[in-house]
Amino acid sequence: MRIAVVGSGYVGLVAGACFADLGHEVSLVDNDQEKLAALQAGQVPIHEILLPELLARHRGKRLTFSDDLHAAVKESAAVFIAVGTPPTEHGEADLSYVESVARGIATAINGYKVVVEKSTVPVYTSEWIRRILLRNAAAPDLFDVASNPEFMREGTAVVDFFYPDRILLGANSERCAAMLREIYAPMTDGSYYRRSEAIPGPEGAQDPPRLIMTSTQSAELTKHACNAFLAMKISYINAVASVCDAVGADVQQVREGMGSDRRIGPNFLNAGIGYGGSCFPKDLKAFRAVARERGYEFRLLDEVMRINEEQREHFLKKVRNALWTLRGKRLAVLGLAFKGGTDDIRESPAIALVEMLVQEGCQISAYDPAAMERARQALKSGVEFAGNPYEAARGADALLILTDWEEFAKLDWKRMRNQLKDPIVIDGRNLYDPAAVAESGFTYYSMGRPVASPEEAAVEATPARKIGNS
Ligand code: NAD
Repeated sequence: MRIAVVGSGYVGLVAGACFADLGHEVSLVDNDQEKLAALQAGQVPIHEILLPELLARHRGKRLTFSDDLHAAVKESAAVFIAVGTPPTEHGEADLSYVESVARGIATAINGYKVVVEKSTVPVYTSEWIRRILLRNAAAPDLFDVASNPEFMREGTAVVDFFYPDRILLGANSERCAAMLREIYAPMTDGSYYRRSEAIPGPEGAQDPPRLIMTSTQSAELTKHACNAFLAMKISYINAVASVCDAVGADVQQVREGMGSDRRIGPNFLNAGIGYGGSCFPKDLKAFRAVARERGYEFRLLDEVMRINEEQREHFLKKVRNALWTLRGKRLAVLGLAFKGGTDDIRESPAIALVEMLVQEGCQISAYDPAAMERARQALKSGVEFAGNPYEAARGADALLILTDWEEFAKLDWKRMRNQLKDPIVIDGRNLYDPAAVAESGFTYYSMGRPVASPEEAAVEATPARKIGNS
């Protein structure tokens, strides 16, 4: 099928490349000339595993890039809208990009088209898109508006696309539903997974994936409900971690106990400095705003957001506990992206914390495997950027872990010990086993777990070794 994807950002670019891999002819449209030039020149503007391979496979063949929305819509049967939906200052989703694309689509409709919301949008956006299309002279029998929310996670987006927990399609007419089903048919009939060049799936992947058909409104609402629920899980475990800190319990042990309950599950139960990124913060605000607009005060979401904000203060308190005063301290920061595996720093709690520490008079030396370039533009003063974790740590009063990069989980502690002025690690992501870090000679602070120090590690290690030797 010929498909247009409007918006070549994290979602549009990945979805477009994946649609091409399924066998469709895809026109990716964007109005950012710099991004287009980079894409046309063979560059990959975002850090996303497997995306370079897919772009190399299909660029210039089944996948083309342009700024010509009109032409792309004319030649396509389905048009996916994947532009940004950032929050307004009052917390609602700013749908002006979606509206502007809808206007552009209206004038190019030359036969039946399905216009699909891929962006995360408030419920009833489909109805607005429909009205905009009609107001701009699109004939009512020549289009349907559908919802196909995207559940991919940055960092594993390509694999998430091909091996989703479910494909959610919201359509209010059978004609439209049939077209959407056809787009995903290579996945739902399993034929994609039998191809030799198919992107391999993770262990336990469900193939073919489950298809869920709903009304357009239900699909729109499901996406907001999912993101709000996941954010709630994160805030919940962070609140539990604060209680653990207060009573000397260990949140990792609590997590294991909770997460092994199949009704709860272990995912999104990692205590830390809070969620960030371009989705959870804005989607919670938007969901809250939609509910309020329709007369329901969704106060639970206020609390989720409040706990998330509080985590940053909670972490700062840990830094103060470890170092006493902050003015003039030199701190090594590992991680700037909002989570591991991406270069995305939008609403990154790591960036917010670096800014807070600079405000407190600290000098920061930071390293991130992928987000340095973006961070350099966001962080102006008080921050130096290092070439690797050990360079960042040179002469620092403490090492701070702010993003859960896999690379950081395998640090060479002996080498790190030689770089730091003081052997202090303050881990906002609970990446390490406290006893192991303490045994390497560090005083180790983490979230919702007791402080581990080399002295305690030595005391604990001695009887164990005696038993082992006897
Ligand atoms: P993004 O900012 O990375 O990309 C948006 C793209 O749209 C940009 O390249 C921009 O230039 C382009 N654009 C804006 N207006 C345009 C117009 N009028 N014509 C053509 N192009 C235009 O955003 P994103 O992270 O890809 O998110 C897009 C949507 O998907 C959002 O609603 C987001 O909530 C949702 N979403 C994002 C993720 C994620 O992990 N990033 C996951 C699921 C859903």
